Amino acid sequence: MAGPLKTIALLGATGSIGGSTLDVVARHPDRFRIGALSANGRVDELLKLCARFRPDAAVVADETAWPALRDGLAALGLGTRALAGAAALEEVAADPANDTVVAAIVGAAGVASTLAAARAGKRLLLANKESVVLAGDLLLQAARAGGATILPVDSEHNAIYQCLPADGGRQGVRRLLLTASGGPFRGRRRADLANVTPDQACAHPNWSMGRKISVDSATLMNKGLEVIEARHLFGLPASQIEVVVHPQSVIHSLVDYVDGSVLAQLGNPDMRTALAYGLAWPERIDSGVAPLDLAALARFDFEKPDLDAFPCLGLAYRVLEAGGAAPAVLNAANEVAVSAFLQGKLGFLGIPDLIQACLDAHPGGPADSLEQLLETDAEARRLAGDLIARMRRP
Ligand code: NAD
Ligand code: MG
Repeated sequence: MAGPLKTIALLGATGSIGGSTLDVVARHPDRFRIGALSANGRVDELLKLCARFRPDAAVVADETAWPALRDGLAALGLGTRALAGAAALEEVAADPANDTVVAAIVGAAGVASTLAAARAGKRLLLANKESVVLAGDLLLQAARAGGATILPVDSEHNAIYQCLPADGGRQGVRRLLLTASGGPFRGRRRADLANVTPDQACAHPNWSMGRKISVDSATLMNKGLEVIEARHLFGLPASQIEVVVHPQSVIHSLVDYVDGSVLAQLGNPDMRTALAYGLAWPERIDSGVAPLDLAALARFDFEKPDLDAFPCLGLAYRVLEAGGAAPAVLNAANEVAVSAFLQGKLGFLGIPDLIQACLDAHPGGPADSLEQLLETDAEARRLAGDLIARMRRP
């Protein structure tokens, strides 16, 4: 018996994580139903999902898309409520009708709804790593105060969560070892990266993901954000969090214990494993992911990350040491840089250069409230925008 139906608010339903979540949900109609779905502005995509999953509420973040959503839902004859805007995202994240929230919006745009779910005491499946980088302390405080259960679904953090002591403590843990695929440019030197294109950067060897995280994987900023994420989620200092490149992406991460035991979680590179784990925890359910065929894989490789070719990982350790709102500056500068790169306005090597310049110019400051952090986020975005404009001037 699966127990009572869980009702899920899926924020970022039209994205890569959103699609993987719905794939798992659809396999278990006896366990899960969809209470709410959200998208940024792609109403047609959202309507297709509403027709299939019949949620109680549908949200578009872009308020100008609301009439199209309302009319589309009416045309489908659905009783789904049409909502719009940032406040509506927080509303469905905190709605008592939903017991589970999947935070799968990309970027700092997800921070308020992620915090709302934590405050409201939800089972919170956390994919939106930027919200942890921006406001990790506040998020963990909110989860404690609200009684939320944070289940990391970033594959590395999900692996570590599975390998840490079952009592939730850290007794005997020496190090966390985050694995990194190395991205599409692994093995290249810095000089070979100057002219790579957005499509090359988004062609990840093992994972199929949204374009922002794909570029982050290519620069190794994704691993940098994940080190900061691990720092918050697992409460260990940066000195106990290491990164090892493992090109096959089958070992999703490891925990090294003081007695020399190293526990790892393995699986095919498919986000449905982590999502099924989070949805059903503490039970296990079918995710649709094929069983691992070790003999067919034949080998695992490991190497050290190349911080000269991929300086973003080093920048992430630098902001962790600086503390305060420095991670917010890093995250905002990275979002602006990646977006400019994807639009052809900044070269690949300009991404770490821009972030470094922003960190040099902006001290970060205090991080005691979301307002302060969002102010820093906005300042860093303005600064990054100005720097790009200056870099482009002949
Ligand atoms: P994606 O670009 O495929 O999807 C993003 C979703 O967020 C879409 O539904 C989009 O409509 C919504 N969205 C975008 N901007 C928004 C805004 N301003 N306001 C509200 N909604 C907005 O991204 P993804 O690859 O699914 O990644 C989502 C998050 O999960 C990211 O934080 C990413 O780092 C993390 N993550 C993704 C993967 C993966 O395999 N894709 C793995 C680990 C972690
Ligand atoms: Mg990851």
